[in-house]
Amino acid sequence: MANATATSAPTRTCVGCRRRATTDALVRLALADGRLVLWGPKASPRPAGRGASLHPEAACLRAALASGAFGRAFRSKVSVTSVDEADLLQQLTAAASAALRSVNRIQP
Ligand SMILES: [Zn+2]
Repeated sequence: MANATATSAPTRTCVGCRRRATTDALVRLALADGRLVLWGPKASPRPAGRGASLHPEAACLRAALASGAFGRAFRSKVSVTSVDEADLLQQLTAAASAALRSVNRIQP
């Protein structure tokens, strides 16, 4: 994967597909009171503690849930069974469209 761009945009690894992407292309998931919560890409304040990066796509969410990647990312037991996948997917979709809108706003 050649890094041909001159930008220094930070990258993270998606816990679902394990591909690296710039943080702008990923949403962040944090662990709050033992539950997965979604935030970003422009959300603030930043939740304390560890976070996991994920493409706002159903395939990546399902892959992360299936592989137990969230448990590894948070270094704790995430009760995946308590994760409302449909609800998370809805939030991912909303985050993705919000990211697109903010990208459009950034245009000079
Ligand atoms: Zn991914």
